[in-house]
Amino acid sequence: MDYQQFFAGHLEALKREGRYRVFADLERCAGRFPEATLHTGDGERTVTVWCSNDYLGMGQHPDVLAAMKAAIDRCGAGAGGTRNISGTNHNHVLLERELADLHGTEAALLFQSGWIANLTTLSTLARMLPGCVVLSDAKNHNSMIEGIVHSKAEKRIFRHNDVADLERHLAAIEPGRPKLVAFESVYSMDGDIAPIGAICDVADRYGAMTYIDEVHAVGMYGTRGGGVAERDGQMHRLTVIQGTLAKAFGTVGGYIAGSAALCDFIRSFGAGFIFSTAMPPAIAAAALASVRHLKGDHARRERHQERAATLRRRLAEAGLPVMASVSHIVPVFVGDAALCKRASDELLFAHGIYVQPINYPTVDRGTERLRFTPTPLHTDAHMDQLVAAMRQVWSRLGLRSAA
Ligand SMILES: *Cc1c(COP(=O)(O)O)cnc(C)c1O
Repeated sequence: MDYQQFFAGHLEALKREGRYRVFADLERCAGRFPEATLHTGDGERTVTVWCSNDYLGMGQHPDVLAAMKAAIDRCGAGAGGTRNISGTNHNHVLLERELADLHGTEAALLFQSGWIANLTTLSTLARMLPGCVVLSDAKNHNSMIEGIVHSKAEKRIFRHNDVADLERHLAAIEPGRPKLVAFESVYSMDGDIAPIGAICDVADRYGAMTYIDEVHAVGMYGTRGGGVAERDGQMHRLTVIQGTLAKAFGTVGGYIAGSAALCDFIRSFGAGFIFSTAMPPAIAAAALASVRHLKGDHARRERHQERAATLRRRLAEAGLPVMASVSHIVPVFVGDAALCKRASDELLFAHGIYVQPINYPTVDRGTERLRFTPTPLHTDAHMDQLVAAMRQVWSRLGLRSAA
């Protein structure tokens, strides 16, 4: 077999479909977020980033940077091992305590990323609970799907955010079997939010555990940034709350929060936890500073929501097809992979606006979109520039307007 030909052929197919992914070669610039320097073949230019998951700009917050620098000076660069073999640093211990406090749980457990937290926790739970059935929301993130598939447990997919459909599935499962309902709070491509209380109600009725991915909500919702479950007064009802330190907390790493027994169980049996080197102490220190800061900075959360509402309104007023969203995510419909990529390219190269096209398999074919994530640091002037550029690109490419 010609292996190289095989690789090239698959890449060619992606390019023909217009969904071959090209990285934007950026240099983030602390103190100037959301602006960044874009490196291209013909030099550098300043662009405004409109699709960062550093939702609150904490990746450059002075408290976070100071904590990170101090920890490097104190502890050095790497953790030096897995958590079991010399890699547990005091900063990890403090961060796990802080996260447990954030979610009102007995314990928390850190991972190298949110992706690994989902993969490890879901695969370990569903594999080890005898006869476990996993009930998974149809729009769950890849990391949850991978974890469930890897567990080899029976899986039932319920319609997205549809509590009646979830109940129908639960009712069809033998009562004695362990059951795990896995879902997200904020779905990051559409910006819709799960009915957490109603999901917990049916899960309780059928004796099922609940697993929530709050990756796109921690730091941003609730009075202390505990997520939508905190906002809705449901935190105490969830078996597992999973989150990331990489989005609103502005650093990197993932975690779960839950009972002491649950966290100890994953710590003791989860391969993705046991066999991988711990996150650097400086990252843990930075994340700790970020979580602590956001517990008390509700004004930043309010400004974030105001910015998202303002952008949504302004794009709609300009006749652009803003998709319905009840969160900080502002998606704009394009409906074609190649056009989505062209719109993104024009915004970047003609207007200095960076928003990545969102294509299949991240979203369904025919629902391709641009996904904007305004932060508290996007000003009215940034929005003026964006709306003017969007109008030009929409008319140049003949894209569909609002219905
Ligand atoms: C980004 C994301 C993850 C993975 O988190 P990382 O910390 O980036 O690995 C998990 N779940 C959802 C819903 C995500 O969007």
